[in-house]
Amino acid sequence: MSSSSTVPTELDAVVVGAGFSGLYMLYRLRELGMSARVFEAGDDVGGTWYWNRYPGARCDVESMHYSFSFDPELEQEWEWTEKYPSQPEILAYIRHVAERHDLRRDVVLSTRVTAAHFDEGSRRWTVRTDRGHVVSARYCVLAVGCLSVPKAPEVPGLENFRGSWYHTSQWPEDDVDFSGQRVAVIGTGSSGIQAIPILAERAAELTVFQRTANFCLPTFNGPIDREMVSEIKATYPEVREAGRNSGFGIAIEAPTRSALEVSEDERLRTYEERWNRGNLTGVLQAYTDLLTDQAANDTAADFVRDRIRETVTDPATAEKLLPRGHAFGTKRPCLGTGYYETFNRDDVHLVDLRETPLVEITERGLRTSEREYEFDSIVLATGFDAMTGAFLAIDIRGRDGLTLREKWSQGPVGYLGLGVAGFPNLFTITGPGSPSVLSNMIVSIEQHVDWIAGLLSHLDANGLSTVEASEAAEKEWGEHVRECGEATLYPKTDSWYMGANVPGKPRVFMAYIGGVGVYREKCREVAGNGYEGFVLQ
Ligand code: FAD
Repeated sequence: MSSSSTVPTELDAVVVGAGFSGLYMLYRLRELGMSARVFEAGDDVGGTWYWNRYPGARCDVESMHYSFSFDPELEQEWEWTEKYPSQPEILAYIRHVAERHDLRRDVVLSTRVTAAHFDEGSRRWTVRTDRGHVVSARYCVLAVGCLSVPKAPEVPGLENFRGSWYHTSQWPEDDVDFSGQRVAVIGTGSSGIQAIPILAERAAELTVFQRTANFCLPTFNGPIDREMVSEIKATYPEVREAGRNSGFGIAIEAPTRSALEVSEDERLRTYEERWNRGNLTGVLQAYTDLLTDQAANDTAADFVRDRIRETVTDPATAEKLLPRGHAFGTKRPCLGTGYYETFNRDDVHLVDLRETPLVEITERGLRTSEREYEFDSIVLATGFDAMTGAFLAIDIRGRDGLTLREKWSQGPVGYLGLGVAGFPNLFTITGPGSPSVLSNMIVSIEQHVDWIAGLLSHLDANGLSTVEASEAAEKEWGEHVRECGEATLYPKTDSWYMGANVPGKPRVFMAYIGGVGVYREKCREVAGNGYEGFVLQ
């Protein structure tokens, strides 16, 4: 660990966050010969995969695709063990990358960046931390993560609870022993869906409090297929390139037909075959219009609902687990292992918070509008203040003292999700307005970092000192992001993509749905045209 005494007061760049984004940014900054430090609030590198240690935590992108591509030797050497990588395995991978490239010596752990202010005179950022560092840097790169600010439950009383409670994204380093306990889980998003089957095995009794039933598809996870690994390793550069140019960051055959132009029999056969692939994109990418046309979407949603009815033996419980009122895919779809089957256990109970809303957390447990439930432990799988939370948690001030909080008060704006007008030399990795959470995020992270590195090298080569998105380019890009969103069913759904899970947050569709490949091409064009839309001085 780098200590405060070793942090210089003048640097070329400060990077905030030591997940995949921050570590790769550091690697590229070093290649450019720049001095840099990464400040990380956590006690180790890894970001998401350091914090989210809950039982069952796993990536929904297959192992062979959820990894860096910048180090071809590592790509060949690293051996994943399962189809979908578990949190410990991804964390081991990130730690290995940090050590292999000697990144740790420039990472300052257990240190939160509290403020970053731009000084117009010196054209530099002054960055402050909660451990008293004050660093002047030419560039400030925010690699703070889209899902790194946990969201607390919306009901009061957590401080009164006499048992133990855990947020899935702040899980203790030493796993928790739930044996013999009555355990509650609040939340059935991705984290809840992954944790519930394992918690059910470990606890004496598990009660799941569900507000919105989610669509969950099976992973069919297991030991990785060695033949597939060999095939991918033999053609990794092509596999990666295809991913970079695809819609979501992993190449799959593009659909060509509407769900409504084929017979019901054919549709069902198609869905069945794709369901058995055990991935997120199979069913969702079966037809061209599943994310744009409600009637088409209903056909896939009905298919999933039928699978739930088949799996859950108690019809009343099955009914509660059926997702309704939002289109399939417009909330983050989930992958699970034995999720619905878990509700067939006698020691697992489901409380539908739409019928009996949660009122408060009490000394002994949880109170709904109907009754009080007693628990030894509560697991909060209540998600995140997604996509903007970590940026806005820092006091960021640009030109003329403009704060990012003011600038984003009606929802986030920025150019390409990379830079914000009024905030020169500040970069947002996987920022709002980029494909970010609608992609295999490592593909998006590498693209952002490479693009920023190219820009910094261009500035140096041309003796320029600042780069800033123009208001006009930012506005135009914002319109394009909004129009792309509105051509889909996403904005109709209350989801964290829309900021709808956080009371008072502006309701804006925050990610770019135009596609990873299209977005990449746009960034390439912008760079090719002398960083069109950015003001370089
Ligand atoms: P993060 O990994 O979030 O790292 C950001 C780091 O910044 C954190 O360590 C945080 O502590 C630090 N930080 C934030 N603010 C400050 C501050 N002010 N000062 C200092 N440090 C700060 N993506 C996929 O593509 N596929 C998946 O299947 C998938 N599954 C996921 C499952 C879970 C449970 C979660 C939470 C996320 C998942 N993601 C998935 C998204 C995942 O976050 C990204 O894939 C990737 O790990 C993001 O890396 P990052 O470095 O950009 O951000």
